[in-house]
Amino acid sequence: MQTAANTLENYWMPFTANRDFKENPRLITRAEGMYFWTHRGDKVLDGSSGLFCVAAGHGRREIVEAASKQLAELDYSPPFQFGHPPAFELTRQLAAILPADINHVFFANSGSEAVETALKIALAYHRARGQGQRQRLIGRERAYHGVNFGGISVAGMVKNREAFGLGLPGVCHLRHTWLPEQRFTKGQPKVGAELADDLQRFVDLHGADSIAACIVEPIAGSIGCLVPPKGYLERLREICDRHGILLIFDEVITGFGRTGKAFAADSFGVCPDIMTMAKALTNGNVPMGAVAVRDEVYETVVDAAPDRSVELYHGYTYSGCPVAVAASLATLEIYRKEDLFNRAAELSPYFLDAVFSMRDISLVTDIRGYGLFATVDIEAGVAPGARGYEMLQRLYENGLIVKLTGDALLIAPPLIAERAHIDEMCDKMRKVLATF
Ligand code: PLP
Repeated sequence: MQTAANTLENYWMPFTANRDFKENPRLITRAEGMYFWTHRGDKVLDGSSGLFCVAAGHGRREIVEAASKQLAELDYSPPFQFGHPPAFELTRQLAAILPADINHVFFANSGSEAVETALKIALAYHRARGQGQRQRLIGRERAYHGVNFGGISVAGMVKNREAFGLGLPGVCHLRHTWLPEQRFTKGQPKVGAELADDLQRFVDLHGADSIAACIVEPIAGSIGCLVPPKGYLERLREICDRHGILLIFDEVITGFGRTGKAFAADSFGVCPDIMTMAKALTNGNVPMGAVAVRDEVYETVVDAAPDRSVELYHGYTYSGCPVAVAASLATLEIYRKEDLFNRAAELSPYFLDAVFSMRDISLVTDIRGYGLFATVDIEAGVAPGARGYEMLQRLYENGLIVKLTGDALLIAPPLIAERAHIDEMCDKMRKVLATF
């Protein structure tokens, strides 16, 4: 039972309007399948897979059992200079579903740490091949790459940067890929591939030999599903190849079936050199992130170090933590057994049609979507984000949780969703939107 004391005050909640929340809390106490239950006992549909992580749905017994068994058998083992067998098995299984020659996996504990790791690996790679002067990192406007200093430096969501100083030096940002002509495009927009040429302009301005890597989310996620224009990622790939720049895909949201294939790299047919993942890697049940790299990246860094010495001075106390590994292995097994990536691909047209049917609502200014991920932009109210926040609260009161960014509602149901869940979600959104 809940204790009588008001214990809300001590918790400084992340990305939350703390004062408002504590006056009118939204507490979630249980979850199963496609639903949450609140402290008031209300049943709430999970429209964003938690935060894009619970791809296989909530309360999966297979994961609970695998994690419990692992904790009982081997609770912890040091990841520096020692290994435990399931961690090797997990990297083997990941290599099998990762594209082409991306076969080496480094473990972190979150998407943010995966991003920091990827950026550091890019710098270490160039140094190992005698090009240590390549230190410039290229990010993109409106990108989200987590909240650590490397990540916020290459990212481009203004609020996430403005309170925290100057960030890494030498970072340049590509323009974001949204153009007004793309409004209400389902899937990849036809216009905008030329925005990738910004990378060439940085090469012309700063010299290719100063640039280490270019990091992008294949679909910009947290800002609200900016799907890459046709030809855009291909063009980034070409420019990177021409100039020896590493291409990093941040697949923290897009990985594990969200786009209808294992990774967005597969959906768009463009292979990066380094890829980050997290979230659905463990079905969001245990914190875990990972960075996967092409053989050449791994071999260059490892082969450059003297014998019997550490090759990359980087790692976390919980890199490949046994319980996270066990949860991830059980998660991958569910994805395979239930063929969830293909299931997402099959459900996608129905899902996108349902979400795009809301375009007739006057408050809706744009809708974008790909796979099982979509975003509905609503007209801003008195201040940016104010109406969005109101909407989030009313949706919750009406039994739906979706991720909010400013005045954008991000929809990304678990891959186990049925058509009836999609209908329920869109009915609730339509009903609430009509009240404004
Ligand atoms: N990268 C991307 C593309 C993300 O969407 C996120 C989180 O939403 C992150 C990194 C950060 O992940 P985490 O919150 O696990 O640190």
